Amino acid sequence: MSEPSHYWIVNARIPNCFIDSSLRELYPEANLTPTLQRDRLFPCHLEINNGCVVQILANSPDSLTSQIPTESVALIDAKQGMLIPCFADIHTHLDKGHTWERNPNLDGTYQGALNGVYLDCTEQGNWRYEDLYRRIEFGLKCSYAHGTKAIRTHLDCPPHQYATTLQVFSELREKWKDKITLQAVSLVPLSFFVTSDGETFADTIADFGGIIGGIARMLPELDQYLASIFRLATERNLDVDFHTDENDNPDSRTLQRVAVAAIEHDFAAQIVCGHCCSLAVQDQETAAATIALVKQAEIGIVTLPMCNLYLQDRVAERTPRWRGVTLAKELDAVGISVAISSDNCRDPFYGFGDHDMLQVFSMGTKILHLDTPYDNWIESVTSRPANLMGLADVGQIAIGQAADLVLFKARSYSELLSRPQSDRTVFRNGIAIDTTLPDYSELDDLIFLKT
Ligand SMILES: [Zn+2]
Repeated sequence: MSEPSHYWIVNARIPNCFIDSSLRELYPEANLTPTLQRDRLFPCHLEINNGCVVQILANSPDSLTSQIPTESVALIDAKQGMLIPCFADIHTHLDKGHTWERNPNLDGTYQGALNGVYLDCTEQGNWRYEDLYRRIEFGLKCSYAHGTKAIRTHLDCPPHQYATTLQVFSELREKWKDKITLQAVSLVPLSFFVTSDGETFADTIADFGGIIGGIARMLPELDQYLASIFRLATERNLDVDFHTDENDNPDSRTLQRVAVAAIEHDFAAQIVCGHCCSLAVQDQETAAATIALVKQAEIGIVTLPMCNLYLQDRVAERTPRWRGVTLAKELDAVGISVAISSDNCRDPFYGFGDHDMLQVFSMGTKILHLDTPYDNWIESVTSRPANLMGLADVGQIAIGQAADLVLFKARSYSELLSRPQSDRTVFRNGIAIDTTLPDYSELDDLIFLKT
């Protein structure tokens, strides 16, 4: 595409949370239409130069004529469309992705998902170099085209697999580094970290630049496992990221145990816990106590609404009764950072998806009722996950930063979340990228011929 290096995007609407309060004060809320007030959108113009945002002006009645040299500079008219920073997707499973056709989860349960991945990865041994490389890269192509700038993926690390997986991941991390910042978390049973192999594995993660993680289960040894992990992570200065309480059992309280362990060990690095579903089926007192501990331990919470809706409460020939998601609003209300992420994509844990964070936000809004009000929930797919990932240059719209932006034709959240927005414009370093999605046939020989 051929935008000039210096231009303005005029007549855009940016969510207030991405606009400096001093700029917002210049344009009183009373001057805004009811839609802009309700949706907390700021009408403005952006100046882009050499790939960076260099100026943001409030769209006051005369700003276009008085403050922008419209004669001498190129303009892109957003026509009141919403403009947001590129997305950050903090919880994915790129290594499992796009295996649905060869190993579907035909009963749709969590156990069925575990069985399907075991079959695909271990029994059939499908996760060889080329298979992983092409499926993960397919996911990256989708993510990039949809407007994602940073991804954290969990990587299944059984002993026979992890060397291949880490090799593929590190090659793709390097190849894609100018387009998508990639992070990886180990996905192993926590018991692994109390073995001598676990110590060596922690070194491997540190050398690799990864994050320690795994699935926390309510086992008698859980506190012992957590103590070991926090020690290993502290010694190596690593963040941690757990799967916690991905079930509807009120007695599943691994999130609480992680928070208690983090406080006891005075753990300083960032902790992220994903799923936390059972928090929503616990009595109010228990849930409130856990939320207070999570706040104290400064744990970031990731909710995965699409995957939870799909797997939770699935019983054959019975209609599901609950949505499966954690207490996002209650966690948010006390100031805990709550991110929304995509989780699995076309694999036994979730049979659908396209690595599109707008779709994730759209479904998350509907499943979690984040439309009443929309408030600043757009942060949950942009700045919040970016902060939890330690990425200062992702999920923001800031003067002097790269113009990595997504522009929609939608002028309000209702319009935004009612269509797939396949005609969105994704700017990277100020240049509109090709948003054509990869063709599914790219994977045909892997998916249909291998098994
Ligand atoms: Zn997950």
